[in-house]
Amino acid sequence: MKKEKTFDGKKSDRMNQHFCKWYFVFITLILISASCNKTKEFDAEIEGIHYINNTPIRIGIKDGKIADIQKLKKLTNEDDAIFIAPGLIDNQVNGYKGYSFIDIGNELTLEGIKTITSGFWEVGITTYIPTLVTSYHDIHLKNLKLLATAKKDDETRGSIAGFHLEGPYVSPENGFRGAHLLMHVRKPNWDEFMELYDASEGNILQTTLAPEIDGAFDFISKCKEKGVVVALGHHNASSEQINEAINQGAVIATHLGNAIPNYIHRWNNTLWPQLADDRLNIGMICDGFHITPEQIKVFYKTKGSDKIIMTSDMSPYGGLTPGFYFNAIGDTLELKAEGVVMYPANESLSGSASPLSKMVGYVMKVTGCDLADAIKMASTNAARIYGLDDRGELKQGMRADLILFSLDDFTMNLKKTIVEGDVVFDSSIQN
Ligand SMILES: [Zn+2]
Repeated sequence: MKKEKTFDGKKSDRMNQHFCKWYFVFITLILISASCNKTKEFDAEIEGIHYINNTPIRIGIKDGKIADIQKLKKLTNEDDAIFIAPGLIDNQVNGYKGYSFIDIGNELTLEGIKTITSGFWEVGITTYIPTLVTSYHDIHLKNLKLLATAKKDDETRGSIAGFHLEGPYVSPENGFRGAHLLMHVRKPNWDEFMELYDASEGNILQTTLAPEIDGAFDFISKCKEKGVVVALGHHNASSEQINEAINQGAVIATHLGNAIPNYIHRWNNTLWPQLADDRLNIGMICDGFHITPEQIKVFYKTKGSDKIIMTSDMSPYGGLTPGFYFNAIGDTLELKAEGVVMYPANESLSGSASPLSKMVGYVMKVTGCDLADAIKMASTNAARIYGLDDRGELKQGMRADLILFSLDDFTMNLKKTIVEGDVVFDSSIQN
């Protein structure tokens, strides 16, 4: 028994040794494989400072999305001590780099839209909503079709979220109408709008209208049913009309404080009811030219950072070299280096040329808000209002649309823009 036991024992020892050897090899292979997976787990990793809580983070990117966000004790390289935030989202741009969405300046082409898109990447805008102001129906049709094609094009990489039709159903009154041409202003027409909606392949995300015009309330409720965001703008509505428009589904005021005459009634004007109604979000052009710092401060105090969409209302001349240009009807315009387009003839405003990335620091300076609030107003809120639930925040599963930047004396110095996980702008290469 003892012998057998010994024999069995030796056999058992050999088996154990054999087993241990293979077990060791097996575990080693698992560890090697795990370590390979670890390095291949992400397509790219970036480190920086989280824009909300100022802590060091490492973001793992896989298949164009944020796959992982790790909090770090410290950054691997202190040179990476720059902010990481979601890419900026602009809900109102009329064009850029000489191209206009209604053919003022160069006629819009697919190549032009790609130029606009990559131009915006260079200033940290990773998503934008092309805006077509009041114009000929045929131009709207043609360019909405073209934009629908551009939206699907691989080279624009999902940066075009949908389109904003600003007008043609706006106020015909001078001052409220702004630069919208009276000859094209008309009453809401659902059939006409649906023709445009179909041309856009269902991509009209927002329309701006005047609620006091005949048929506007019915039009607003139809838009709501269709999922089109209704904005109030270029209007002279009463408090009651504004209230009813919001009841019907209007959710945002377009560039509040603009498209208003210089002299208005002290009680009965469009500003008070739009500021007073907590249901209404507001678009705010924070370039330092279109509204005063005091207005920005008051709007911020009234609405709070949850209800403000920072917007550029970018002119087609934005992104060009500062200097003088002729518009489509032969007027001379001056693009100023400070980021604004003027009519030199009467020193009046003709449009904005400041990208959102410039406005972020300015709003912080004027209102005293922190970076987290400023980015909320320049990215997160727009994503929420337009149902873009794959962007606007640093969160696992979101598109890896990111900006890396430093903030120096309230100026955002953009280092890199990342779209779908790829670097599309790098200041160290392009400057
Ligand atoms: Zn406008």
